[in-house]
Amino acid sequence: MSEQFCPECGNKMIYEAPVRRFVCRGCGLYATRDEISDIRQKAKTPLLDDERKKKKERGEYLQWWLSSKK
Ligand SMILES: [Zn+2]
Repeated sequence: MSEQFCPECGNKMIYEAPVRRFVCRGCGLYATRDEISDIRQKAKTPLLDDERKKKKERGEYLQWWLSSKK
C-alpha cells in the first residue's frame, strides 16, 4: 500500500480499509484514491488562473504607467 498525501493541505492521509478511502490528518479530507487524483488534477487549474491574473495585473499596471506619462 502506497502512502497518500493530501492534495489540499499536504498532510499524510490514513487509509481506511473498510471503506477504501483515505482520511487526511490535517484537514479531514475524505476521499478515494481516484477522488484524490481528481482533486490534484483540478488543483492545477486555479494555479494557472492565478498566473493569468498576475499577468493581467502587470498589464494594468503598465497601462496605468503609460497613461500617467501623457
Ligand atoms: Zn488535508
